[in-house]
Amino acid sequence: MLNKKSVDDINVKGKKVLCRCDFNVPLQDGKITDENRLVAALPTIKKLIADGGKVILCSHLGKPKGEPKPELSLAPVAVRLSELLGQEVKFAADPEVVGPNAKAAVEAMQDGDVVLLENTRYRKEETKNGEAFSKDLASLCDVFVNDAFGTAHRAHCSNVGVTQYVDTAVVGYLMQKEIDFLGNAVNNPERPFVAILGGAKVSSKISVINNLLDKVDTLIIGGGMAYTFAKAQGGTIGKSLCEDDYLQYALDMIEKAKEKGVKLLLPVDTKIGDDFSNDCNIQIVPTGAIPDGWEGLDIGPETEKIFADAVKDAKTVVWNGPMGCFEMPNFAHGTETVAAALAETDATTIIGGGDSAAAVNILGYGDKMTHISTGGGASLEFLEGKELPGVAAANDK
Ligand code: AMP
Repeated sequence: MLNKKSVDDINVKGKKVLCRCDFNVPLQDGKITDENRLVAALPTIKKLIADGGKVILCSHLGKPKGEPKPELSLAPVAVRLSELLGQEVKFAADPEVVGPNAKAAVEAMQDGDVVLLENTRYRKEETKNGEAFSKDLASLCDVFVNDAFGTAHRAHCSNVGVTQYVDTAVVGYLMQKEIDFLGNAVNNPERPFVAILGGAKVSSKISVINNLLDKVDTLIIGGGMAYTFAKAQGGTIGKSLCEDDYLQYALDMIEKAKEKGVKLLLPVDTKIGDDFSNDCNIQIVPTGAIPDGWEGLDIGPETEKIFADAVKDAKTVVWNGPMGCFEMPNFAHGTETVAAALAETDATTIIGGGDSAAAVNILGYGDKMTHISTGGGASLEFLEGKELPGVAAANDK
């Protein structure tokens, strides 16, 4: 059970608080095209302001590769955050991130003021968790708050290194929510616990499958991954996605599910196309009987029914990875059916970040889910059962 100190456990009145956020927003010609991440950061920032802290915000944005790149400056974020908060967010433009300008801006702060530092990845040491930049960041503050889940699986200066040089390091509300749902719900779930895995490759989810088989009551595998399992069991899969290096692994996982008494559900039918395009010819066939020249691009209707039924009586459902090539409308139905089933069930529904989060939102089911993770890579590592450095670095309760 992860039990980390949060912003609710500290008193920041009059203190300088460095808060690591995830402001890695898409920009087009200097304009923010999706501000979800800014909105998601507001509760923690507002709490720190209301408590009378001097709130110093920091984040990375894109990949400037250790040097200032004007097009990846956080300046536009300061402007939009000021509007969202209804108070000035002073932007501390500084090529060194923590250089003379930033220090002067922090020095001039009153209680309740907000300053935003420049893109932390302007500094080379950031992604190497180097000492000098970690110390620079720590020198600005009395207290550190980490609210950036999207980078929690990386050990960088601004989320891990800095904590070595401050006495108090806690998590913000966003991080707390991710820990509660992805960490604690998965490790101590209300049962029946069903996990649904999809997406392209078995190889990217090996540890997730292995770890979840120790925890779930039912494991559903759809998407491109399913064809490696179908071939391993002696089926023909045409030109469907397949990782021949993982055939034995697939058989091992089928065996492990049996040993553990986990119900493993694989697609029984599949929607195939004669080309990887939305407008190809389409057929529905049994999953292990795909003709030459055809490929599986979505689960079939019988499978949709089985998968949807499996989540009906669940109490906890975790979903990571689409059931088919949902980007093509003709092959989105399987993913849509699973999303709809999750929207209807009374279970706690947790969506791993990345493609499944995007699919749920695009299909309009976002507000029907209990929790949609803000971090793709980080949520996968949580599901693999790994310790995330950004979470581990926060003080325990
Ligand atoms: P991942 O990043 O592993 O979660 O994979 C997501 C991608 O898997 C999406 O872009 C889907 O289009 C793709 N995908 C899902 N099912 C299939 C399939 N049957 N064949 C090829 N790609 C698929």
